[in-house]
Amino acid sequence: MTYWLSVAVAAPAYSALAGPLLYRAEQPVAAGALVRVPLGTREVLGIVWSTEGPPTDSELAERTRAVASVLQGVPPLSASWRGLVGFAARYYQRALGEIALAALPPQLRTLTAEQMSRRLARETAPSDQDERVKQGGTMPLTDEQSEALARIGADPGPFLLFGVTGSGKTEVYMRAAEAALARSPNAQVLVLVPEINLTPQLEQRFVARFGAALVTSIHSGLTPARRLHAWLRAHTGRARIVLGTRVAVFASLPGLALIIVDEEHDPSYKQQEGARYSARDLAVYRGQSCGAKVILGSATPSLESWHASVPTAEGGRGRYQRLTMARRVGAAAAQAGLPHIRCLDMAQQPRGALIAPPLLAAIAQCVGAGEQVLILLNRRGWARVLSCADCGWKSACPHCSAYCVFHRLDRTLRCHHCGFTQRVPRACPTCGNPDIGAIGRGTEQLEARLADLLADVRRPDGGPVRIARIDADSTRHKGALESALASVHAGEVDVLVGTQMIAKGHDFRRVALVAALEPDGGLFSSDFRAPERLFALLMQAAGRAGRDAARGTAGQMWIQTYVPEHALYQALKAHDYPAFAAQQLAERAQAGLPPYSHLALLRAESRRQETAQDFLNAVSALARRDFVRSAALADAAARIRWYPAVPQMVQRVADVERAQLLLESAQRAALQQVLAACQPLLHTLRKTPEHRGILRWAIDVDPLAL
Ligand code: ADP
Ligand code: ZN
Ligand code: ZN
Repeated sequence: MTYWLSVAVAAPAYSALAGPLLYRAEQPVAAGALVRVPLGTREVLGIVWSTEGPPTDSELAERTRAVASVLQGVPPLSASWRGLVGFAARYYQRALGEIALAALPPQLRTLTAEQMSRRLARETAPSDQDERVKQGGTMPLTDEQSEALARIGADPGPFLLFGVTGSGKTEVYMRAAEAALARSPNAQVLVLVPEINLTPQLEQRFVARFGAALVTSIHSGLTPARRLHAWLRAHTGRARIVLGTRVAVFASLPGLALIIVDEEHDPSYKQQEGARYSARDLAVYRGQSCGAKVILGSATPSLESWHASVPTAEGGRGRYQRLTMARRVGAAAAQAGLPHIRCLDMAQQPRGALIAPPLLAAIAQCVGAGEQVLILLNRRGWARVLSCADCGWKSACPHCSAYCVFHRLDRTLRCHHCGFTQRVPRACPTCGNPDIGAIGRGTEQLEARLADLLADVRRPDGGPVRIARIDADSTRHKGALESALASVHAGEVDVLVGTQMIAKGHDFRRVALVAALEPDGGLFSSDFRAPERLFALLMQAAGRAGRDAARGTAGQMWIQTYVPEHALYQALKAHDYPAFAAQQLAERAQAGLPPYSHLALLRAESRRQETAQDFLNAVSALARRDFVRSAALADAAARIRWYPAVPQMVQRVADVERAQLLLESAQRAALQQVLAACQPLLHTLRKTPEHRGILRWAIDVDPLAL
């Protein structure tokens, strides 16, 4: 007897093999089973997507190859999981097999059936750890926490938990998880975090509450063996709580009952290469399709989520149910109060000051009192660019449309886009002027300057000020970030300097003052999401100040700015995210930007900018000509606005020119339909001689930046 199977395999991204391939087998194989199948001259891992009837085409039946083996012992992937992957592939315009196989731990692809069964035996052996759900949290909840939990228990969601930093969101997550686990012995909870190595505290808190036996982490930083281990624990239901970064949204969780997306506004939930999916949006889809409740949590929600949670004009709830926690947890409001935020008008300060005198005095006072200070400067390196005042030479990267950043420590000029590195020239390479200047200060320079500025300040024990820096340069080596964070936590650092890395998620208990040095760039960026990101960053940074209720003073935040009256800073000073969101949403509505429209980008890369743009414009011209004539597409096509191809924001990286073309529609479904119809055009046109110069193309649905 012959059985026919559709099998998803990892097809090369540009082969236009979007769907599963037909194979045959001598035994019945369940849908969702893992198999090894021949593909070309190789044998690859595949997932049985569905069982099929015999093909009507006898020639096809003849050609169809046989499944090589079935991975015994791994339970099949559920229909719900396959549904999620299928949706992601359709929505983000990628091949099914690409998404499906990328969601599996890489080691599954290489292990033989024998190795696999040994591994499984180990995974399913009785554990010596206690796997019962522990006695839950016992601390009394705040009224806001109780109210939020009551609604989560009673209502279907999805929920937007809008809670200021320190309002006890994590406690709500843990109680909601506890309730979900208590409801069924098979229930599983998925907790997504933006960057797992930046939030070890969250993992520790879940482990402390639920026990290590129940909690598993899934992220790309794990070794292949650990990743497989974690995946199997989730897939077999042994891990009841799975914590992970965006890849974990695809974890196989047969008992999934609750999904939590912490810091839901964080841009790292959107994958920025390959399949450009949003783990937050997929989490909402996944929850709704499998009946799991979804909680999105943030102190500064994405404007999309905020908009979705705005109550309707008739007084009903929006698409998301908003739960608000406006107060920090703590003995008295005054003690754990929100930090005092002030804008320092740099126009009134001595010109060129890195740190204005009043801020410097406040820093010195904190350090003198034994408190910690956090200084945010969102630019690493020593200086943004080197420049010659005589001839105007600048340290441009020869391979990108960007400047090389000056790193003084190793005296290099480094391009942060392509990694190109060269030694700092002794004199201007163009005119020989030996006096080349540095423009725009980075964290490296800040760290050095601070040491001078605070040289006379003493800590309470009489010792000198201890300064540390955390950014992508200082934490390049494995473990460097963890040890730097540990020394901050242990109180071995008085002043911590860093990029946005230091604002994310860390629970610095003794920080009394946070300063943002040059945040104005985010106000005037061409990126329409820049103000949203800036507000979130500053709010999050402010949340680091004075979290320790026991210390009894409110923290302070300082912002050095040339536009102190700007609406964004005014909303920030009032800790008024809703005011900020309302103002931003009004601007977005007027400009027709998300969430009031849906966007997609066609991207192309080539050695020449013109070639890349020509290709995109050709696709657009064909689509606009043909789609309106097609009965199936005319309706959707009429709802799409096509823009001409333009260079990408960073136009050239590593000698490759990049172009993009924007499509916009008020209707998500119309955009989806048109994008799907563009796929064959992109594939076909690329093969024509005129467009031979195209190196790559891609579709980005719901792009973060334009
Ligand atoms: P968020 O995630 O909103 O920033 P956390 O959940 O980290 O806030 O809570 C901040 C602090 O308050 C933590 O130290 C936490 O243990 C504590 N906490 C949370 N809920 C309560 C409560 N009901 N009673 C006392 N302390 C609480
Ligand atoms: Zn010069
Ligand atoms: Zn470069």
